[in-house]
Amino acid sequence: MKLVTSLLAAAAIGVASFAFPAFAQDKGTVGISMPTKTSTRWISDGETMEKLFKEAGYTADLQFADDDIPNQLAQIENMVTKGAKVLVIGAIDGTTLSDILAKAHEAGVKVIAYDRLIRDSGNVDYYATFDNFQVGVLQATTLVNGLKLDSATEPKNVELFGGSPDDNNAFFFYDGAMSVLQPLIDAKKIVIKSGQMGMEQVGTLRWDGAVAQARMENLLSSTYTDAKVDGVLSPYDGLSIGIISALKGVGYGSGDMPMPIVTGQDAELPSVKSIMAGEQYSTIFKDTRELAKVTVGMVDAVISGKEPQINDTKTYDNGVKVVPAYLLKPVAVDKTNVKDVLVGAGYYTAEQIDN
Ligand code: BGC
Repeated sequence: MKLVTSLLAAAAIGVASFAFPAFAQDKGTVGISMPTKTSTRWISDGETMEKLFKEAGYTADLQFADDDIPNQLAQIENMVTKGAKVLVIGAIDGTTLSDILAKAHEAGVKVIAYDRLIRDSGNVDYYATFDNFQVGVLQATTLVNGLKLDSATEPKNVELFGGSPDDNNAFFFYDGAMSVLQPLIDAKKIVIKSGQMGMEQVGTLRWDGAVAQARMENLLSSTYTDAKVDGVLSPYDGLSIGIISALKGVGYGSGDMPMPIVTGQDAELPSVKSIMAGEQYSTIFKDTRELAKVTVGMVDAVISGKEPQINDTKTYDNGVKVVPAYLLKPVAVDKTNVKDVLVGAGYYTAEQIDN
């Protein structure tokens, strides 16, 4: 009887692996929760992961939360209910996920914070991101280069913009930038003419370009009626577009009013075109395809019970634990190298940039 049972079992395994190879390969479902579709980077992050997960034998459940926190919570809850093994989350507000992640943990689900740190939860296993402090350092460095501070005889007027105060990254970008700018402010080579400094004053909720445009318009009418603004620290291309639009609205970029040096981040196509046209000065290229690849590797390791590759165990304290992280390197680009770098990396074609 024993023999018969084991023979039957062996036959069943044989049949199963022969007749249903797809089943044998299915390594389970990974829930991918991305914050928004308003910026192309998040769409390509999500879609690249979806493709890589499928190629690696997983089922991918990709959802975008339209920058709406309850929506993101409901989508994640649904992923847990449907039996996802791992969640990959690009949080809208990194502090709102503690309850749902506690439920996920009880269900044995592993969690990877994608690009943005998830705060106030012990149930975040790993973090895949870029070196966010370095992003800010690079942004400020391009600003300083563009202002030609070395040869300047007069102080330069600069205004500061920060990212969304509910996104941990925004503080890293700001702090990184200020590590370069503060000494120059102290040395009176740079003047923040509005006096508005610190994330409480310069943050931009939900990274909203319209909010940045409105704040720039206010700055121009309150602070720059008699003086000119020379540079604007902008942490993200979507804000830079709004800022440039406000600047153009009062005549910058034409006649005797040169366009101020405006920075950015993400190398989004409209901003790359703006750089080529001599409007936006710089952006930071973060190869999101690489981030997606690292994340899929992390998930695969976690599911196979292995240690994922990490290269940082100190920087990202989320208020409950230091989350082990893998940091990729950001790259600064301006008009002199933007096309070479992006086309060289296969991120865009030359035609996309030129047309
Ligand atoms: C990302 C940036 C992005 C910003 C707005 C941040 O968390 O790291 O790449 O520009 O969100 O989407």
